[in-house]
Amino acid sequence: MSCVPTTSWRRSLALRLTLWYSGIFAACSALAFAFIYVLIVASVRDRLDEDLADDVSEFAALYRSGGLERVEHEMQLDTKGEEAEKSFFRIWTLDGRLVVATDLDAFPKLPPPPKSLFATGAAEPTLETLELPARDHPVRAVYGAITPELLLEIGESVEDDEEFIAALLRGFVVPLIGVVLLGLPVGWFLARRALSGVEDITRTASAIAAGALDQRVPVLGEGDELARLAQVFNAMLDRIQALVVGLREMADHLAHDLRSPLTRIRTAAEMAQAHGRADAAELALAATATEECDRLLELINTNLEITVTESGAAELRLGDIDLVELVRDAAELFQTVAEDRDIKLISQLPPQCRLRADRQRLQRVIANLLDNALKYTPPGGQVTIALREEGSRVRLAVEDTGVGISPEERTRIFERFYRSDRSRAEPGNGLGLALCLANVRAHGGEISVESEPGRGSTFTVTLFSPPTLRLGSASLR
Ligand code: ADP
Repeated sequence: MSCVPTTSWRRSLALRLTLWYSGIFAACSALAFAFIYVLIVASVRDRLDEDLADDVSEFAALYRSGGLERVEHEMQLDTKGEEAEKSFFRIWTLDGRLVVATDLDAFPKLPPPPKSLFATGAAEPTLETLELPARDHPVRAVYGAITPELLLEIGESVEDDEEFIAALLRGFVVPLIGVVLLGLPVGWFLARRALSGVEDITRTASAIAAGALDQRVPVLGEGDELARLAQVFNAMLDRIQALVVGLREMADHLAHDLRSPLTRIRTAAEMAQAHGRADAAELALAATATEECDRLLELINTNLEITVTESGAAELRLGDIDLVELVRDAAELFQTVAEDRDIKLISQLPPQCRLRADRQRLQRVIANLLDNALKYTPPGGQVTIALREEGSRVRLAVEDTGVGISPEERTRIFERFYRSDRSRAEPGNGLGLALCLANVRAHGGEISVESEPGRGSTFTVTLFSPPTLRLGSASLR
């Protein structure tokens, strides 16, 4: 009879934490990769620019030592074979005349250097990126003076560098996907671990909500936040349990103390009726007093019986009984009530169902359930009592086509004195189902209810054979 809803994994905090963990993990990794990538790309580009600028200085030195012939020879060597596809050299006079050039077939529509360079003489090497329409990759060009009259132009395709950078990117993306994929199980594991203490507390709170006020949360770990929460939670439960036990004891003592004066009032009212000296009005008053005393005494006695049964102090008179016989007798007894109310009472019973149980207590359970079913079913309805054996379990179901019970009421109807507003017109004291629950639990069984408002309810009692008795247990449930 737990009333605490379970969390679906899709809405769970663990999933949200996992997504946060792996999201942050992936974002940090991507950021770190991006940072390294940008650094490497910048360094590759800087290195190319530095090499080109160094080449200008080297060719200037060559010119000084061996003249134009030596420079041209070196240029041809550097663009030999496949290299002609990747680089070119040109030497210009400062009035814009081309003096020497290597093979330019691989660089069609190559523009001349910017005019401004001829004017200034490019004492310091100047770098530029050329986008040639016929080539897939840009060309990085350097212009620098090798003598006060000659301008050297060197062009180098960035193809190799771009291929290296593309390979680098691929090399980053694959591990990044791996990191993200790994982040999910790692995040899930961390979130589950962190939240396992919270789950313990939820489980205990759920058991307490179902009535097991003696349960406590295990305190794991050394003074961390969850251990502290568990300690505070347990301390709160100790306090609540002490208050509830105190309240219940007070109610029981009060009930106990009321029993004797009530019995005396009842006896006095009975004597007044028996004396024969009272007039009709006084007799009616005495009869009402007797009736009310009976009602109060029944309420007090049932309440005390529930307390004794719940505490485990009650002794069950166990015997070998045939539950079929018990149900049949009860159905016969309630047949007249059912006919008076124009309700069809149906029994669905196996030939026999033997069980070790307390006959009188089970009789009260069956009578209470049948009484309720007939009370809360309008004329023309139907009540079915069915018995089924399933292995070592016995299921007794009382089904009606009555008013039904709303989900909010369902969590409360087994409490003492709970009566729904709708049922106030019917006789009763709100103790019937609490007594059923106490008796069924004393047999180690369970009781549950399914209902649809306006359509009817089914109360199911499950008993075990042999019974798993809870005698002697002093637990407060
Ligand atoms: P009582 O019947 O004396 O009020 P119970 O403890 O037997 O007390 O039942 C508690 C409440 O549960 C009832 O007041 C009623 O609202 C609800 N209830 C019990 N049985 C049924 C039923 N078969 N159909 C609809 N409501 C029911």
